[in-house]
This record gives sequence, structure tokens and C-alpha cells, in this order.
Amino acid sequence: MKNQISKHDRIQMQIVTACNTIGVRAVQEYKGKGWRADVFVPELENPIAFEIQLSPQSLSKTLQRQSKYLRDGITACWLFENPVPKLTNERPDFPVFYVEEATDGSLHINLGTRRKLPLALFLENYISGSIQFKEYIITRPKQSVDLVFYEMYCWKCKEINHLYFIDTPFYSSCGAILTPDETLWDSNSSEYYPEIIELSKKIAAERKDLNLKLAIIKERHSYTVDKSYMSFGCRKCDSIFGDFYVMDAKMDHIYGPKDLIGTGEINLLKMSSLSIPHWCFPDDENYCSK
Ligand SMILES: [Zn+2]
Ligand SMILES: [Zn+2]
Repeated sequence: MKNQISKHDRIQMQIVTACNTIGVRAVQEYKGKGWRADVFVPELENPIAFEIQLSPQSLSKTLQRQSKYLRDGITACWLFENPVPKLTNERPDFPVFYVEEATDGSLHINLGTRRKLPLALFLENYISGSIQFKEYIITRPKQSVDLVFYEMYCWKCKEINHLYFIDTPFYSSCGAILTPDETLWDSNSSEYYPEIIELSKKIAAERKDLNLKLAIIKERHSYTVDKSYMSFGCRKCDSIFGDFYVMDAKMDHIYGPKDLIGTGEINLLKMSSLSIPHWCFPDDENYCSK
């Protein structure tokens, strides 16, 4: 219990310090009508009440307390230690953040589990309005990519070919990590993006030590499904490597040894926009869209 009390106080102090740093007034333990804020920041266009909640609190109880702040025209900002059950989406009208303590005792905020910020940095930027809610995530144009290459023997002519998959996540404009299924925004696998194909060729040319014999990626007709689609195919006889076999081989290597790895930077030709509501905080003021 003693630890919990001291952590609560430490967070409270950091909020006050952050307010001092950016020159706004902070009031501790402020009592309003039916609410009591750990720290209240009154002199803002939208006054903020900070609620530090280290013991678990249900979503309905939190919303009930939230409604009293809303009624009084105040934004309640919740700093939780434990996830709020049933709260799945980040919401603009309901700022909920999670405080995490590192082994050295320093406190951090998880921005939607995507990005971790030191608590002081988070507070200064949240209070000054630099952490903004955005409905969409935009991919960052420049991405650093790891390609993992693996061998596949042509089912027809037995020639050795190297295929690859992308082993790094893409990042949003605000540095959030996009999981692979989030980046599959169109039916094409990201392995077939022209800029990725170009990178694979560049790596093959520059990294002689890897001794890569790249399979050829192009649109081929599959008689099995009677349509044309982008595919890997044999560098010698051009036979198509079916999606199923490619997926299967890829899985073996995703979870197995990765011996042949090449890294490079690409410029995404197509920026993509994904419907992922989030608290956005880019390093360079390039916020994700509205
Ligand atoms: Zn072949
Ligand atoms: Zn963003």
C-alpha cells in the first residue's frame, strides 16, 4: 500500500512540475461539484482535471465520474495503471492513458500501446495541446525495412530461387507501429510493392555475400483460379510459385532461423491511411490526418 501511495504522489508532483515548466497554474486536490481532481489545470481554453487511478476501476464507474466533469465543461484526463476492462478504442472525449514504471523507477506513458513517452514529456505536451486525437493513421513516407530471404526450389525445373518477406513493421507519421495485417491495406501483399521489389534487387546486387538468386516477381496467370495476380516465379523457367506454397515456406522462416537478412530504406510511393483512432504525437509536427 505504501508503494502505491508514493507512486500516486510522484505522478501528482510530475503533473505540477509539467504545469510549472510550461507556465500554467496547477491546483492539487481541487474539489468541484461531485468531483475531486488530483490536479486541476483551470486556466486553459479547455480546463483539464487529472485523475490518477492506480487501483482498478470499471469502465462504467469511470464513465460515471467522467460525466460530472463533462457537465462542468472540463476534460478529465485519466492516468491508469491497469487496463480499463472493456475499453478497447481510444476516444477523443475520453482521454485514458496508462502509466508504466520502468525497473529504474522512471515513469512512462503508453500512447495506445504503440509508443512510450517519459511521463514529464507526455504531460507537457498533453497540457499544451500537442498530443492530438486523430481518427486516421498515415504511413510515414520513409521506412526502414528488413527483408528476410529464403530458398525455394522450383517445383518444375528444380532451380534454386530466393524469395523474401518483410520482417519489420511499417511506421505511422507519428511513430506508431503498424502490425503487418494493418499494413495490408489493399489486396496486394506489401512484398510486391515496386519500391520493395527495387530494394530486394539493390540488396541482391550489393550484398554479394548473401549470394541471392532472386525469384522473379510479376503478374502471372494462374489456371487453377483462372486469374492473373502478382506472384513469385522461377527465375529460370518462369513457373508460378503458388500463394499457398509461398505462405507455407514463409511461415517456416518467420518462426525459424533467419540467415539471409538485408536492410534498406524505401520511400513509400503510396501513402496509406488507415482508420485507427489514436492519440497522435509526431516528432516533427507531421500529424496523421484529421
Ligand atoms: Zn523453374
Ligand atoms: Zn498519428
